Amino acid sequence: MLKSEFKNYSKNIEDYLEAIYNIISEKGYVRTKNIAEELNVTPPSVSAMLQKLESEKLIIYEKYSGAVLTDKGKQIAKSIKHRHDTLTKILKVMLVPDAVAKADACKLEHNLSPESINQLTNFVEFIESKKECADLLEEFKNFCETR
Ligand code: MN
Repeated sequence: MLKSEFKNYSKNIEDYLEAIYNIISEKGYVRTKNIAEELNVTPPSVSAMLQKLESEKLIIYEKYSGAVLTDKGKQIAKSIKHRHDTLTKILKVMLVPDAVAKADACKLEHNLSPESINQLTNFVEFIESKKECADLLEEFKNFCETR
């Protein structure tokens, strides 16, 4: 799903939707506390944001039982996760250390155009599907190590 199919949400909203999606995928539910920990913010700011997300019809929020994503919220979250995963893979292919790749993917995922994300996705799939690429990447590793 390309981002251009949605109205442009702020980086902050995208981060929340991504975090909610990831936590629900892992735990089956999400509470304010989980989001606060994941995003390193305070529970009151999570509550405020959850109300905003609900007013945008991106989640259904219940103060004590937590939140669920609406179809629209889920679509956006999946789109961000796709961007995140693609960017992480690209950076890792280029031998960026795992933790750095993940952190940088989170910064880049909000800013790249749908065209770039689309081509990065194609590029990752191409590399993963060709045996020759594995050899080339091995050469690239040696190239980096001997510089
Ligand atoms: Mn991310």
